[in-house]
Amino acid sequence: MKNKLLLSMAAATVVTLSGCTTIADMAGADTATLNASASQSYNAMVNDARNKGQLDTSSATYKRINNVFNRLKPIANQMNQTGTAFQWQLAVLKSDQVNAFVAPGGKVVFYTGIVTKLNLTDAEIAAIMGHEMVHALEEHSKQKIGAQALTDLALGIGLNAAGVGQGGAAAAQLGSQIGIGLPYSRNLESRADQGGLMLMARAGYNPNAAITLWEKMSKQSSSGVAFLSTHPSSSQRIAAMRQNLPAAMQIYNQNR
Ligand SMILES: [Zn+2]
Repeated sequence: MKNKLLLSMAAATVVTLSGCTTIADMAGADTATLNASASQSYNAMVNDARNKGQLDTSSATYKRINNVFNRLKPIANQMNQTGTAFQWQLAVLKSDQVNAFVAPGGKVVFYTGIVTKLNLTDAEIAAIMGHEMVHALEEHSKQKIGAQALTDLALGIGLNAAGVGQGGAAAAQLGSQIGIGLPYSRNLESRADQGGLMLMARAGYNPNAAITLWEKMSKQSSSGVAFLSTHPSSSQRIAAMRQNLPAAMQIYNQNR
């Protein structure tokens, strides 16, 4: 009881001071813990896909995605301000699904369907890759977990004193949900859009492709398109990117 009281007092203080990330830290979801947990989930997923014959390591589509990944990776490393080096990895899954996501610490997952169904160019692949990499670089999952932890605290569930005492068990549990299914806030999506634009431009991909990518997305029917359920395409989204296009073009022209 005493612990619980202390926890809620501490929580109230932390919330006032600095918000979500600190709450995530309190729950044990520091960068290293989160990245390790994501790495474990990612490896399990890759093994499962390999066993089911769903891991693509050789098709022309895989090679194109992997080339983009390798060109963006060194730039992403330069942009890493988390204080923890990322072990970037890419998994390409043979699937008709239109989807891609990233897990903390730089674990990128692409479904072949997003490339083949949308008939993406390499630069459009780079737009998605850059967007996902920025989610990881800015640790958006951590903020999502922070927000979730805040909600749990407010409701008085989930993060009880025992959970925190177990050294981040709650965080590990939340970690298993990372990157899959749950959408980021519109603000984080916007940050990933703008950061992704700069990342692809620095890697020498024409940032105009981010616009054509989202125009292609907007022509997809949203039903059954997993990526669109977490990444709604809208004229607002495209307009915001257009605004940042001149700055991105300048970077591109220096790096092409
Ligand atoms: Zn996103």
